[in-house]
Amino acid sequence: MSLSDLNLESRVRYCFTCREHHIVNVNDYKTIQSLNFFEKEHRGHRTQVIDYKELKIILATQQSSKKW
Ligand SMILES: [Zn+2]
Repeated sequence: MSLSDLNLESRVRYCFTCREHHIVNVNDYKTIQSLNFFEKEHRGHRTQVIDYKELKIILATQQSSKKW
């Protein structure tokens, strides 16, 4: 299994302000660094750690709301 593969058991940090996300359950150095960068970039924003399956629901909701 590739580390970059998101599966339904993955957890992501989601920024509700920017609508961006980053995987959090990682153990390789590069991804931890990019997670640290993500957290710095979104400091002060409304972020939350959620399940990847919740993220999929959020993204689906955003896509459908764009049509309105
Ligand atoms: Zn943000």
